[in-house]
Amino acid sequence: MAGKDYYDILGVDKDASEDEIKKAYRKKAKKYHPDKNPDNPDEAREKFKEISEAYEVLADDKKRKRYDQYGKAGVEKDFGSGGFQWSDFSHRDDVEDIFSEFFGGRGRGGIEDIFSSFFGGRSSSRRGRRKKRRGKDLQITFEVDLEDIKEGTEKTIKINRNGRCDECGGGGSKSGGTKTCPKCEGRGEVKNVQRRGIQQLIQVQTCPKCQGSGEIVEDPCPKCNGSGLMEREETMTIKVPPGAENGSRLRVRGKGDAGKRGAPAGDLYVQLRIKPHEIFERRGSDLYMKLPIKMTTAALGDKVEVPTLEDMETLKIPPGTQSGETFRLSDEGLPKMNSNRIGDIIVEVKVKTPKNLTKKQKELLREFSRIEGDAKEKKSFFDKIRGN
Ligand SMILES: [Zn+2]
Ligand SMILES: [Zn+2]
Repeated sequence: MAGKDYYDILGVDKDASEDEIKKAYRKKAKKYHPDKNPDNPDEAREKFKEISEAYEVLADDKKRKRYDQYGKAGVEKDFGSGGFQWSDFSHRDDVEDIFSEFFGGRGRGGIEDIFSSFFGGRSSSRRGRRKKRRGKDLQITFEVDLEDIKEGTEKTIKINRNGRCDECGGGGSKSGGTKTCPKCEGRGEVKNVQRRGIQQLIQVQTCPKCQGSGEIVEDPCPKCNGSGLMEREETMTIKVPPGAENGSRLRVRGKGDAGKRGAPAGDLYVQLRIKPHEIFERRGSDLYMKLPIKMTTAALGDKVEVPTLEDMETLKIPPGTQSGETFRLSDEGLPKMNSNRIGDIIVEVKVKTPKNLTKKQKELLREFSRIEGDAKEKKSFFDKIRGN
């Protein structure tokens, strides 16, 4: 049904006038009246809902415009998450008109009957909508180190989840017996009927007593109070993928809470939090670090030792290196997710100005300064600032 075009459903052209749309709806509405379709009332009811959804959109200028432009996506938010429901229908008056005209002479019940059969549905109460609810999804946060995502790793985690009660095996009953829920009579849903004048508004909700399962346990298991669930600590292994992003979620299927009465378990979501590293700052797949170097190393050049996530690497500092210059250690960063590229380590050097000089060091630096001064005296102040 999702793929069907509203214009096709009503059988009108794309540029149909308001009047044509209304007429088309009236015609179809009469056709799908359940009394005229005694052999397949359910199908007629579905069809009636379908044309009413189309009418709801096309009879409204704003909705129609959005639908013309974006298709069903344009009107999605006008209806709830389950799509169009009768509670979304704003043209009950039109339907009333149609049927009072059509069935005007009919005595008993009249319009009210028609409404309750359409909007509540006799047979929908027969059919019911029992559902087994999946167990709840769980989410935990798990901390990993940068080192863990360099190659990816396996981690053992402990979680508290609702598993099946071992006393009753998850059924929730001491004897294993269940009975039909008295509140919804096994349908799993209950109806709220409101009267407004001659109209009946009917809301359908999941049965609060049985949570939609349609049955309740006969003699509740004393250990789990009939829920069939029991919280316990479980240990499991998760795979931390290489290059995982901070905040990314891993899904572990079936490791959320167990479902009630044999329904499937929910999933466990493990959100990864990557701990700040004492040396490296992560920048995508690159790792950034600051490296203090000696003034003489910066001036004369030298080889220095630089940490990586695994061990140490040698980095060559060329003579005349300035504070703030960066160097790259290729392929020492993190793997890029969904690619075979590996990031770099970016080293920003910080030249340390020496403190607490000895007498000898001071003498040598003064001597150095004198020679430097002679060589650069001719330069202007601005040239010096520019570093030329
Ligand atoms: Zn119930
Ligand atoms: Zn139990």
